[in-house]
Amino acid sequence: MTQQSSTPAPNSPVTVIGLGPMGLALAETLMKNGHPTTVWNRTPGKARNLVAGGARLAASVADAVAASPLTVVCLKDYATLYEVFGSAAGAAAAGRALVNLNSGTPKEAHAAASWAAARGVAYLDGAIMVPPPLVGEPGAAFLYSGPREVFAAHRDTLARLGDPRHLGSDPGLAVLHNAALLGLMYATMNGFLHAAALVGSAGVPAAEFAELAVNRFLPTVVDATLVAQAPDLDAGHYPGGLGTMEMNLNALEHIALTCEEQGVHAGQPLLMRDIAAQAIRDGHGASNYLAVFEVFKKEAAPGAR
Ligand code: NAP
Repeated sequence: MTQQSSTPAPNSPVTVIGLGPMGLALAETLMKNGHPTTVWNRTPGKARNLVAGGARLAASVADAVAASPLTVVCLKDYATLYEVFGSAAGAAAAGRALVNLNSGTPKEAHAAASWAAARGVAYLDGAIMVPPPLVGEPGAAFLYSGPREVFAAHRDTLARLGDPRHLGSDPGLAVLHNAALLGLMYATMNGFLHAAALVGSAGVPAAEFAELAVNRFLPTVVDATLVAQAPDLDAGHYPGGLGTMEMNLNALEHIALTCEEQGVHAGQPLLMRDIAAQAIRDGHGASNYLAVFEVFKKEAAPGAR
């Protein structure tokens, strides 16, 4: 059974396990906010500056975990968590809280929650949505999932790192959101990079195109439309009065043909064209473009990965 002590004092001790670029930023931020900080890392030399600033470098993971009611873990992945937390450290963590911030999959997060529960450890899974220099800065989003009472008990300390958002008791929700938001980031960046390559084929500088694309086109045409129409996704309501999937397929075909004419990579538009064509095969030819949501909700055909 997991245990949870009462709400810790604002500057309660914290342990940080893992001092890669992100773990270092977490430890520095906690120290800057006055938390007595204990650290451990496989390569102890990385703690040199932290120790010079007042952190305590523990000789073992068990020693580090025993030093604080809350341990923040920021290692490479879940496999490293299990490797680092051998039996001694697992036992030392019993009755304490462990917040694990490495990235991974929901299945891995569920397995880690079970691993922690078997050791009497109060476990939160989490995801950091900013790079190390933005840790502790206003607006830095930190996502958490797992028992609400564990989050509530340590919320004040976690708020030092960034804006803490508890997504629910299912421990997989934080890494699920992480994958979704990073997928959005890569798709958006690739959309811009591909568009810049396309106009670049006619000698247009990316710096000139960025102003039109990012400052003017995106905020008016994409962002506002999506926020206003998101409830339609939940309702499965895709009225095609202002433009149909057939019309959008035509546009996607033109983008792919333009790429071919200009000698630019056509992989992205061809994939988008295929997805729109699938939506039409599924009966959404007269729907608006958002009906591709119905395609995305299903597994891809075998062999598509
Ligand atoms: P990282 O390279 O992903 O992880 C480095 C940490 O893992 C170091 O403490 C390293 O120890 C430790 N480690 C790796 N293999 C190990 C092993 N076999 N045994 C013991 N320790 C091992 O660097 P990071 O950027 O700090 O990222 C940490 C986590 O945060 C990752 O899951 C990453 O996805 C996530 N994250 C990172 C960023 C970012 O921008 N950096 C942003 C959001 C989330 P040594 O120092 O001894 O090598």
